[in-house]
Amino acid sequence: MDAFSIIARDGDSLARAGVLATAHGDVRTPAFVPLASTASVRGLAAAEVAELGYDIVLGNTFHLFLRPGGELIAGLGGLHGFMGWERAIITDSGGFQVFSMGHGTVADEIKGRRGGGGGAGSILAIEEEGVRFRSYLDGSERFIAPETSMAVQAQLGADIVLAFDECTPFNVEREYTARSTERTHRWLERCLRWRESHAAVDGSLFYGIVQGGVYEDLRAQSLASVLASGCEGVAIGGSLGREKEQMYEVVEWCTRGLEAAGAERPRHLLGIGEVDDLIRGVELGIDSFDCAMPTRLGRHGVALVPEPANRWRVELDRPRWRESAEPLLEGCPCPACAGGLSRAYLHYLARGRELTGARLLSAHNLTFIARLMADLRAAIIAGRLAEVAGALRAGAAPGTL
Ligand SMILES: [Zn+2]
Repeated sequence: MDAFSIIARDGDSLARAGVLATAHGDVRTPAFVPLASTASVRGLAAAEVAELGYDIVLGNTFHLFLRPGGELIAGLGGLHGFMGWERAIITDSGGFQVFSMGHGTVADEIKGRRGGGGGAGSILAIEEEGVRFRSYLDGSERFIAPETSMAVQAQLGADIVLAFDECTPFNVEREYTARSTERTHRWLERCLRWRESHAAVDGSLFYGIVQGGVYEDLRAQSLASVLASGCEGVAIGGSLGREKEQMYEVVEWCTRGLEAAGAERPRHLLGIGEVDDLIRGVELGIDSFDCAMPTRLGRHGVALVPEPANRWRVELDRPRWRESAEPLLEGCPCPACAGGLSRAYLHYLARGRELTGARLLSAHNLTFIARLMADLRAAIIAGRLAEVAGALRAGAAPGTL
């Protein structure tokens, strides 16, 4: 039986609602996947994340490979046992983070998320065999190959494993993107060969990654290779362009290509998660998304609110909230809103960089996104996606539609 079942399709767009069965429970799609890059959803206990309604989190192979190491985590029950998360886990392959160290701020700019490398790390060599780099933790020389990534993801016990790929930035030439995409395909084959010969991967799903930058023909070639490889799911990665419109166009090439190929496999969009991008992504036929945004904003005093003109954000550390008795968001079931906390109090916590403030805003932001995704999913099932997406874009609060 296929792990992924589509239970409803929208008549006016490529959107679909489904259920992805994993060894650690079902993931209701379309789904947002909170980041637990370093084995924690920052600021929150695993049980709290489950309580917010999430079926799945994302762990990061690159970070966990460097610290505390796959072997240690395997010895403590895999990532599920280690961090106390009983539901599904997808692990990033480490490709994005290792290449971010070399491509640096360009990758950050494209994806709107921080490269995982941090300050001190750097790429020493990109070879056919793999990537040699300097650890951002202690400056030691390390090596990661497709097989390393597969072995670490098996040690972590991920339910969904991503292929090890090269993530090319926006500003490289087409020629480089083409050569890199070909290497990514050879690495995909090596990932699959490793999996075929190791029983430790039994029960996990494997997603190939479509690369090809902003070039339609390269994306099409990449998509064909990924589909031919027989992987269970498809992730869309790499440079999606400089502007949102270009990003949507690149995503649409990929999802239209999948539709044309009759491929019903689950589709994950890597590193994208702004509110408007989630709505559009769902319409374009994406089944899951991951992004650091909700928790990163929360740590910086920013809360998500239904205000499209302000990019769905309110900066609570601004002086205008100093004496505001206004609630953050009426009707929101998160601990801050349901607890009746004022914007003045959240402003005070944010200004003081209190852990309590970071925790409360992270929980609020994850609640906002969980409700947004639940609304989109329910709307697809009820055959009213256009109406609900329109209302959300116009500033309706998630959970009220
Ligand atoms: Zn709230």
